Amino acid sequence: MVDRSLTLMAVHAHPDDEASSTGGVLARCAAEGITTVLVTCTDGRCGDGPGGVKPGAPGHDPVAVAAMRREELEASCAALKVTHLELLGYADSGMMGWPTNDAPGSFWGVPVAEAADRLAVLIRRYQPDVVVTYDENGFYGHPDHIQAHRVTMAAVALTGVPAKVYWTTVPHSGMAALGEALRELGVDWAEAEMTEDAPPPEIGVPDAEITTWVDTRAFGAQKYDALAEHASQSENIEFLRMGKERFTDLMGVETFLRVRDTTGAPLPEDDLFAGLR
Ligand SMILES: [Zn+2]
Repeated sequence: MVDRSLTLMAVHAHPDDEASSTGGVLARCAAEGITTVLVTCTDGRCGDGPGGVKPGAPGHDPVAVAAMRREELEASCAALKVTHLELLGYADSGMMGWPTNDAPGSFWGVPVAEAADRLAVLIRRYQPDVVVTYDENGFYGHPDHIQAHRVTMAAVALTGVPAKVYWTTVPHSGMAALGEALRELGVDWAEAEMTEDAPPPEIGVPDAEITTWVDTRAFGAQKYDALAEHASQSENIEFLRMGKERFTDLMGVETFLRVRDTTGAPLPEDDLFAGLR
């Protein structure tokens, strides 16, 4: 059919998102000889600094944090055997409502069309068969994740290149199991993220709505190792505390919503490249 290898492009917001949400499929694809392209949109400057210093706190240097996270990202890509890493280089916008949302160069403040043009250049260059990004809520409402979604969908529309497009998601059953595991470790995940009277956000979808379940348990150790490269970020440490086996049990099957398909592969499917091999 074609004499080039199949290609997966994953578009993520921050250094570490590639590991936590698609580490399994990136590692699995690499093992299968599929070219993997990771596009990371921001520099992660609003993440934790060395020693867990929070953004805005004394001693948090956004430029130094970005440099540290760039190194972590490259180490994570090595663990996942990512073929190509591309950085759009926008500034991390921070959580919704933070003043950094409107800072010069922040990803949230960039016109979607402008960033989509840049991503379209990469899509035309790499010709991905499959593109993966977040849903319209950015999975959990982070502005950079929402923006990554908008930019990706605009670039897909501009180029028409990928045969299949997916949004990362989790089944409600998986969220419940994860919540339980974190509670056992003494982490009240929902409470940590919430203000006092905000209801917990609706994360994920009912199991029956998942279109694509990819078993990546054989690559659980690689996914864990990739996330471990991002151990400067406190929220990742909680997952790492589970240990590799429990982590793989809980995070080893990655799930997606298929939102574009030109192959006619029947649903549900267990392979992002179903209909393309
Ligand atoms: Zn993120």
